[in-house]
Amino acid sequence: MEYKKIGNTDISASIIGLGTEYLDGKPYNIVKETVDAALEHGINIFDVFMPGEDVRRNIGKALGDRRKDVIIQGHIGSVDLRKQYDTSRDLDVCKKYFEELMENLGTDYIDIGMLFFVDTDEDLEQIYSNGIIDYALELKGKGVIKAIGISSHNPKIARKLLETGIIDLMMFSINPAFDMTPSEVDVLGTVEEFAKQEYVAFDSLRSNLYRYCQQQNIAITAMKTFGGGRLLSEDHSPFKNKLTPIQCIHYVLTRPGVVSAMVGCQSSKEVEESIKYLDANSDECDYTDIISEYDEEFSGKCVYCSHCQPCPVDIDIAMVNKYLDIAMLDANNIPPSIIQHYRSLPVSSDDCIECGNCEKKCPFSVHIIENMKQAFELLG
Ligand code: SF4
Ligand code: SF4
Repeated sequence: MEYKKIGNTDISASIIGLGTEYLDGKPYNIVKETVDAALEHGINIFDVFMPGEDVRRNIGKALGDRRKDVIIQGHIGSVDLRKQYDTSRDLDVCKKYFEELMENLGTDYIDIGMLFFVDTDEDLEQIYSNGIIDYALELKGKGVIKAIGISSHNPKIARKLLETGIIDLMMFSINPAFDMTPSEVDVLGTVEEFAKQEYVAFDSLRSNLYRYCQQQNIAITAMKTFGGGRLLSEDHSPFKNKLTPIQCIHYVLTRPGVVSAMVGCQSSKEVEESIKYLDANSDECDYTDIISEYDEEFSGKCVYCSHCQPCPVDIDIAMVNKYLDIAMLDANNIPPSIIQHYRSLPVSSDDCIECGNCEKKCPFSVHIIENMKQAFELLG
């Protein structure tokens, strides 16, 4: 397993995380085998948003004295007031459910206190005016949570909250279909609506949000990695072909800023399926075929797929392009961390011998040679 640091914290998360939603309503033995399999394979980050007492207790019991080995994303505002998942912006209700989360899990701290489902201007206004942000800050001050996160599906709203500077981590819905959907469309619509989306080449609000996160050292954990399973289905995939779990995970992990792809599992077998990503070769990871049907839309834009590799001098072309794109968000004010990341690459883009092999292979007509030079000028 590989681990990546969460923003400015001293916590490192496994690149594959466990979404526990599908454990809701399952008997204890299923919860236990799933949790055991995750831990055995080195998964150390769990998202627990479900408000139900039984599933929380089962997860806590399954973890037992291994609680300290796991980073828990616990949500402030996830409730089940009407016997179903709901969101509350009432401070007292939020406090009650968050305290119960700790009690049910058998812990006195939550690693990442997540501001739950912040998708609209109204959500944003309410978490401020109802004292929910202050509550999260207070919890962090007391050490009850170690970091503040948000969960969102809306790039515009998420960006507004991230710009406050108090957020360490964002859980965001990421997959190729969502990234090609205009940001004003609700990606959580029905299967039919989802399949009918009008695609655009990497919605700029979304792609810039990811770059902004890496620029600002805000970690992203990704939800909806498989699009609720639709991307894996021949019948429901909005692309010509279905994707594999490995392709979906690789897509998510190659977005800027992403530290962990959260994968919803409801058995040890499903955990093992996702873990196969760690041993996958570059052909199995390659998702280019899926999105290259939209090659005109992507023309000149790097999607960080690494299809252009290998390079004879071993330049990591996708990473160079990624750092260049982040630098170009504000070329006059490039964060030292991005310069440092670029300079840490084993081979400088200045070593490009202009053989042109990569440009012949890139399905999206990216001007790679030019980019290699520009990256060195800006970051070298
Ligand atoms: S340059 Fe082209 S092939 Fe290479 S990573 Fe970018 S999009 Fe993929
Ligand atoms: S043109 Fe440069 S970056 Fe591309 S394969 Fe050749 S040496 Fe590598």
